[in-house]
Amino acid sequence: MAFDAVRGQPAAVDVLTRALASGRVAHAYAFVGPPGVGRKLTAVEFAKALLCPHPMPLTSSPLPGGEKQGEGGMVRVNACGSCPACRRVEAGTHPDYMLIAPTPPEGRTSGTLLIRIEAIRQLEQRAALRPAEGAWKVFIVDDAGRMTPEAPQAFLKTLEEPPAHTVIILILAHARELPATVLSRCQVVRFMPLREEEAVALLQARGMDEDTARLLARASQGRPGVALAQDPAAWLERRELALAILAEVGADGAAAIFKWGETLGRDRARMEQLIETWWLWHRDLLCAKAGGDPRLLLHGDRAAELTRQAAARSWEGLVEGLAACRDAWQALQRNVTPRLTLEVMLSRLALGAA
Ligand SMILES: [Zn+2]
Repeated sequence: MAFDAVRGQPAAVDVLTRALASGRVAHAYAFVGPPGVGRKLTAVEFAKALLCPHPMPLTSSPLPGGEKQGEGGMVRVNACGSCPACRRVEAGTHPDYMLIAPTPPEGRTSGTLLIRIEAIRQLEQRAALRPAEGAWKVFIVDDAGRMTPEAPQAFLKTLEEPPAHTVIILILAHARELPATVLSRCQVVRFMPLREEEAVALLQARGMDEDTARLLARASQGRPGVALAQDPAAWLERRELALAILAEVGADGAAAIFKWGETLGRDRARMEQLIETWWLWHRDLLCAKAGGDPRLLLHGDRAAELTRQAAARSWEGLVEGLAACRDAWQALQRNVTPRLTLEVMLSRLALGAA
């Protein structure tokens, strides 16, 4: 396992294994890419590789020769995955390893999840110590873009004068989530959505049947972690609800818009999911109208219905539908109430379908 468990990120794994092989490990890395594509998994495997006293050769993609070679010409840059050190990294109990993730406000179980200054101070204190067991101390900051406003400033001090033998890995969706002063001190490692076949294989390996795996690989747009985080049945149910609402609004107009606004108007998280579902449906309608390859459809299992609906709609109406979804998404991010967001969006979708 170890780095072999990371799927579909050969460039990222290559950067890290080369650093390990050459001994030129950076003090700080920024793992940048969408959630659900293996950023955290890779970070944990990298931590294990740094802390494992019994490294193994890479089995899946041996590096081209040259650098430090082990037996059989293989570079020993992979954690063994089974020694006590590897197991304690996995469990989060290794003394030279720390994973920081966003937390709710102190003393509460709910509230906005943020990387708080106290966590950064704790990281600073531990980074200042010598490694207890291994050659390195490894810190992973998950969702590092969620730092409170004062946290990056505090963090910058550690990055400017990194304590010896310290590796800090920041996990981010976008480079712009952190000030350039912080990011410029990190080596950026990019993570990409997985190709469809890779995502399907990964989901099947987790026990999904092929049809469901393909549907969710497409719906999650190559982010298997996102697909795994949702129950496939719940996803299908949500799609049925989203399409039923559209049909009802088409038939009953304002009465249906009002009814669904009242029914769903308080649930922001559910609204975000529905908007995404409508967005992807309109994307498919546009694809079907353009006569695109049916294999490009996210909702390939509903191809006949998409073709029928697409034929009945104008180009302008479809583009307007996508714009309505996008505007609704942005309205929710700006804290417009879910109810108002839904009502405005459904009115626009109804007009676009007319
Ligand atoms: Zn090990």
